[in-house]
Amino acid sequence: MAMIIPLSHAANDSTTVTCASCEACCCKLQVLLMAGDNVPEHLVEYDQWNTAAMRRQSDGWCAALSRDTLLCTIYQRRPMLCREYAMGGSDCIDERALHAK
Ligand code: SF4
Ligand code: SF4
Repeated sequence: MAMIIPLSHAANDSTTVTCASCEACCCKLQVLLMAGDNVPEHLVEYDQWNTAAMRRQSDGWCAALSRDTLLCTIYQRRPMLCREYAMGGSDCIDERALHAK
């Protein structure tokens, strides 16, 4: 279940940040894979330096994202970078603002 975090700096106290009201903005970011990550191989892509990242599709979203539910289909195996990405954190707020434009 998605948490709801009040924005302490928001002018309107009713403003909240929740993944439920977001079109998975952060799942369009490049997600580099790290040692210890264990995602399905068909969801991984490699650049010319053999750096592994989550594969993204032509719509920009990560290949592991369900286009129907906008939820991660590999939630239990999602990469470390995704685990550490804080809903309501500064990166999240910035990404939502970018996509709102
Ligand atoms: S950008 Fe923030 S609110 Fe949107 S899906 Fe990612 S963590 Fe959730
Ligand atoms: S692995 Fe899951 S949480 Fe991470 S970017 Fe892809 S869909 Fe989003």
